[in-house]
Amino acid sequence: MAYSDLTLHCSDCGDSFTFTAGEQEFHAQKGFSNRPGRCPSCRAARKKNAGDQSGPRHDRQGGGQRSMHSAVCSGCGQQTEVPFQPTQDRPVYCRSCFATQGGKRTMRR
Ligand SMILES: [Zn+2]
Ligand SMILES: [Zn+2]
Repeated sequence: MAYSDLTLHCSDCGDSFTFTAGEQEFHAQKGFSNRPGRCPSCRAARKKNAGDQSGPRHDRQGGGQRSMHSAVCSGCGQQTEVPFQPTQDRPVYCRSCFATQGGKRTMRR
């Protein structure tokens, strides 16, 4: 059976597009009996949109905000703020003391 190009109308944008003989043959081989309802560009656009919507989102709400905890510096005894919950068994340092402490590495295994 010979296929011939068909002119179809897109149900999305209303433009006419060609359902080529090659595409018809491909459809027939795949077992599709229905004609495409949308032009190639609309099909591509829909695919892209669907991909965007179902894609993974790594957005976090309020990522820029961190709750600060007030603590007393173990080095100089000044009141300071740290971005984590201070614990009893861990020394807390203010900025300037942390900079000094950072110079030497604490051995931890
Ligand atoms: Zn279209
Ligand atoms: Zn300090």
